[in-house]
Amino acid sequence: VESGVASQLAIGIDVGGTKMAAGLVDAYGQILRRLRVATPASDPEQIVDVISGLVASLRADADGTVAGVGVAVPGQFDHRSGTFVRIANLSLRGFPFRSRLETVTGMTVVIENDTNAAALGEWFAGSGRGYQDFAFVAIGTGIGAGIILGGRLLRGAHGSAGEIGHTVVEKDGPECRCGNRGCLELFASGGVLAARAGEVARRHPDSLLAAMSHGGRSLNGGDLFVAADRGDEISREIVDEAVHYLAVGMNNLIELFDPAIVAIGGGMVQVGESLFERLRRAIRAQRPRSPDVATRIVPATLGDDAGIIGAAAAVRSRT
Ligand SMILES: [Zn+2]
Repeated sequence: VESGVASQLAIGIDVGGTKMAAGLVDAYGQILRRLRVATPASDPEQIVDVISGLVASLRADADGTVAGVGVAVPGQFDHRSGTFVRIANLSLRGFPFRSRLETVTGMTVVIENDTNAAALGEWFAGSGRGYQDFAFVAIGTGIGAGIILGGRLLRGAHGSAGEIGHTVVEKDGPECRCGNRGCLELFASGGVLAARAGEVARRHPDSLLAAMSHGGRSLNGGDLFVAADRGDEISREIVDEAVHYLAVGMNNLIELFDPAIVAIGGGMVQVGESLFERLRRAIRAQRPRSPDVATRIVPATLGDDAGIIGAAAAVRSRT
């Protein structure tokens, strides 16, 4: 960090499929002011307009210099061409997103993949603070990771480093949307677990999960852990399987990168100790010769703010 930069502010914007969260962030990762708007349906120029409005509004409130704008987006961004290789829910593929935003806002713009941005946020101001070697694993609808090694975010040659959700954990497993077989995401993502919980409730109308879905409440992955903890056998089997594969993925991550600490975020983190206890035990059990894994496994601490804070941090790491 250069002198002078430490006192500067940055704007972080987390672009989701349905809403955008924006914040004016100080040099300590504190969000000073925040805004929230709906993500425009599909027109890239409309998305640029909305972001431009958010930037103008936050900038007007800034008491000091704003170093730039970081934008976290659910996609794979090619930093050399300045366009997306892969992008979910938005029509931004091939669109010169960064240059359009720079033109419209007149500011430096840094685009970051949403999971990488969350990793940067947790590293800068949350669970990974103070560590040089840190991994953040997001378990939500899918599973992704952001890896910081030697104080640098690993992006990879094509912007897809850290795609732990599509590492193979069962070689003859079911086919994934990515074309591989047996990807981690197919066994342990919040989306998959929610679907399995719903399936159990439908097939076993007298089960605990069926009771939990009473009144039309849609089940989530966390409900499986709650039911397993209350002694429901089917839930326990599903949870054990998910945790087993999650531990395979985590052990691979630990072997490859040797992080000092791994934080888990995303929707599944709300399960709490029921998940973390099981996961730590499974990670140890899969390493019979070195059960004392030095890597700490902890919950992420910033929640949904990680994206905003990390996007703003991405600006600082670039300036
Ligand atoms: Zn896959």
